[in-house]
Amino acid sequence: MISLSAEQEMILSSLEELAESEFTDRAFEWEGEPPWENAELLADRGFLGVNIAEEYGGGGMGEFEAMLSIEAIGQVCPDTAEFVYNQQMVAARAIEMFGSEAAKQRYLPGVTAGEDAIAIAISEPEAGSDVGSMNTHVEEIDGELVLNGEKIWVSNIPHSSAAVVWTKFPEGLGSVIVDLDGNDDEIEIQQHYTNMAGHTQTQFYMHDVVIPEEHVLTRGKEGFKKQLQALNWERLGSATLANSIARCALGKALDYAQQREQFDQPIADFQGIEWKLADQFKQLEASRTLTYRAALNAERQGRIPDRLDASLAKLYSGEMVERVTSEALQIHGANGYQQGHPLEYLYRLARGRRLAAGTDEVQKNQIARALKKNGLPPLA
Ligand SMILES: Cc1cc2nc3c(=O)[nH]c(=O)nc-3n(C[C@H](O)[C@H](O)[C@H](O)COP(=O)(O)OP(=O)(O)OC[C@H]3O[C@@H](n4cnc5c(N)ncnc54)[C@H](O)[C@@H]3O)c2cc1C
Repeated sequence: MISLSAEQEMILSSLEELAESEFTDRAFEWEGEPPWENAELLADRGFLGVNIAEEYGGGGMGEFEAMLSIEAIGQVCPDTAEFVYNQQMVAARAIEMFGSEAAKQRYLPGVTAGEDAIAIAISEPEAGSDVGSMNTHVEEIDGELVLNGEKIWVSNIPHSSAAVVWTKFPEGLGSVIVDLDGNDDEIEIQQHYTNMAGHTQTQFYMHDVVIPEEHVLTRGKEGFKKQLQALNWERLGSATLANSIARCALGKALDYAQQREQFDQPIADFQGIEWKLADQFKQLEASRTLTYRAALNAERQGRIPDRLDASLAKLYSGEMVERVTSEALQIHGANGYQQGHPLEYLYRLARGRRLAAGTDEVQKNQIARALKKNGLPPLA
């Protein structure tokens, strides 16, 4: 479907094989618990952090390969894919892109070894989509950088040694690394929530946390602009995850429809079901095309995805995965609606993709803004 180099084909086929043989049995047991065993196995085989530099234990490849790996794994075990997405395209990647050498040496080897995770803390009770209105702030007091604030909805806090925290500096927005381990006086957990997919999201306060200079990732106008551009990679990672969840659901629907008989024939032979399968596949492939097009264009332009391309892929993939998992559940009848069935989990998981990493509405705002500013993009 997409044209790959020999090395990319090797990554894809090796990971598909590994996921099929090692992740299938427990694929739907994790429900948000980090699949540490799978992470370790991926790390042992050199497939964790494929886009992180080799000197920190990664594969030294690009974002496109990171996306391929998420998709290969996610069609079998979406929770493992989500873990890999977090390791490769979110906070750890920000540390690699913007961090000091000391920060990279300290945090990245644990991530690529599958032993540690880094959370990303942006949202606040009063600042969700409107990131610029956040209250978390860094002040310079007696020559030290001191952070105070509150974050909410942060994934992976119980399993992470540190968080990349977005904050205000006197000169504007920026981001810093905050240690979570061993900072009990400064980090106060307010509440762990359980979301619709059974995953933990945490609200916490940060009181007078002293930030060493080498833990500052971005600050100043230019630094924050770069951080926002990097967010476009996170959006493409989120789109890839959505595509993989949809593919997982569609694969199960295809199997079930051919095996389940009603009115003396497989339900897959009813035109009504055939059309559902065709529609699901159409939407999935359209979403994959938008996602990979954005990634390939970005790599050609120096590895920063275009805002229009990234938001389009993020928006469409979120809408698509909700529809595809819903229809895949429909094909499973009452079976698919039962707690503990993969389809009901995939459906719950899919819903989060329209919110996490920027809501549908925010993506639409981005798309409209880009169109108004630049007009329609060239045809090629
Ligand atoms: C599964 C999941 C995982 C998450 N993980 C993390 C995490 O690890 N770290 C983290 O910091 N956050 C995380 N979040 C939070 C996520 O980033 C926020 O939910 C998201 O940014 C939206 O913020 P909000 O929920 O406060 O909604 P709000 O911003 O309050 O928005 C409410 C509604 O209003 C709409 N809206 C807002 N502004 C506009 C506008 N200008 N135009 C049109 N409509 C608008 C929104 O689209 C939405 O529909 C996660 C969320 C989910 C669901």
